Amino acid sequence: MDSRTIGILGGGQLGRMIVEAASRLNIKTVILDAPNSPAKQINALCEHVDGSFANPKDIEKIAEKCDVLTVEIEHVDVPTLKRLRETHPKLQIYPSPETIELIQDKFTQKEHLIKNNIAVATSVAIQSPSEETLAQVGAKFGYPYMLKARTLAYDGRGNFVVKSAESIPEALKTLGGKPLYAEKWAPFTKELAVMIVRSIDGKVFSYPTVETIHQDNICHVCYAPARVPDSIQLKAKLLAENAIKSFPGCGIFGVEMFYLENGELLINEIAPRPHNSGHYTIDACVTSQFEAHVRAVLDLPLPRNFCSFSTSNTNAIMLNILGDKKEKDGELKTCMRALRTPGSSVYLYGKESRPQRKMGHINIIDSCMSECERKLRYIVGEDAEPIV
Ligand code: ATP
Ligand code: MG
Ligand code: MG
Repeated sequence: MDSRTIGILGGGQLGRMIVEAASRLNIKTVILDAPNSPAKQINALCEHVDGSFANPKDIEKIAEKCDVLTVEIEHVDVPTLKRLRETHPKLQIYPSPETIELIQDKFTQKEHLIKNNIAVATSVAIQSPSEETLAQVGAKFGYPYMLKARTLAYDGRGNFVVKSAESIPEALKTLGGKPLYAEKWAPFTKELAVMIVRSIDGKVFSYPTVETIHQDNICHVCYAPARVPDSIQLKAKLLAENAIKSFPGCGIFGVEMFYLENGELLINEIAPRPHNSGHYTIDACVTSQFEAHVRAVLDLPLPRNFCSFSTSNTNAIMLNILGDKKEKDGELKTCMRALRTPGSSVYLYGKESRPQRKMGHINIIDSCMSECERKLRYIVGEDAEPIV
């Protein structure tokens, strides 16, 4: 479909699903990550680079092997990407290094959004973390408030809920040593998310608004469409589109939001890459988030409705499969129940099972949401009766 090679910084499950989408279009991909990482397992090439997306030398190596360089994770070494633009003028880098730089520091990301009139939770940088400064934040924001690592955060690792002044010493013990900022508590009724595709010529396209439910800070399930009024779905879509218009470069972006008790929407954070809340698109939409990313970074067509639901009555639930807490590979029982369930698809990422690790996901599709919910109850073991 295209003779150019895509280099991917990061070989986790998101990289693996980009590789799958690219392979269907006969587009070559090379990966930079540890040997046998999930994306490499399904891409039998000897040209992959073993190493780290945070290491300048390794990034330089993969740059030699591709025409377009992209990321499946934002924690990459940005100065090297900027330097590559000078040393490898023909190499295209999407999303742009400036966008990755703005987003990878969650506080800088917030400042950028505020500058662009996008609603976000009120936050403050913590210059020198101490019991005193954290107590000052408590006096200003009230309790609970959220203390967050500015960089290298994922799955809530990097977040600490400061419940009261008494929990400040523990917060410092947990997150001390990292660059920090504090965020006012967002009294949300639901969390919403929208995947946005930005084309090389700067147009933005949005997937349906979805609802995510987190457990222990990790995405547990995602309902598509979100179970909120149409007006809120539209408001979320416009907020996400406006936010992404403010970032240079192209590709797919995940936009996480809080839907507050008072009806207001605030952006929580943005990911400059495919996102967990977009996995449902593989089975529910005309074009998956992964293929949309490949198309966007190669400037391939993005025709009308490519990011719509496949049919006018498609409903979907995505369930994350986390490593079982009690028994190694115990999560495969859930996958087996999903394989028995009509309209359900299982995706495993090829990782070694560890408690609470993201091992795979299941997409459940039906023409009505209550049927998706019934299937979900069977798959998670709440209902004993299999779906026929
Ligand atoms: P991800 O894996 O999505 O990158 P992360 O480690 O960057 O996660 P956040 O998205 O900042 O973490 O927060 C994780 C979850 O914690 C949110 O989805 C939400 O449920 C909760 N949370 C975060 N910030 C706030 C807040 N200000 N008020 C209330 N809850 C919050
Ligand atoms: Mg995050
Ligand atoms: Mg998040």
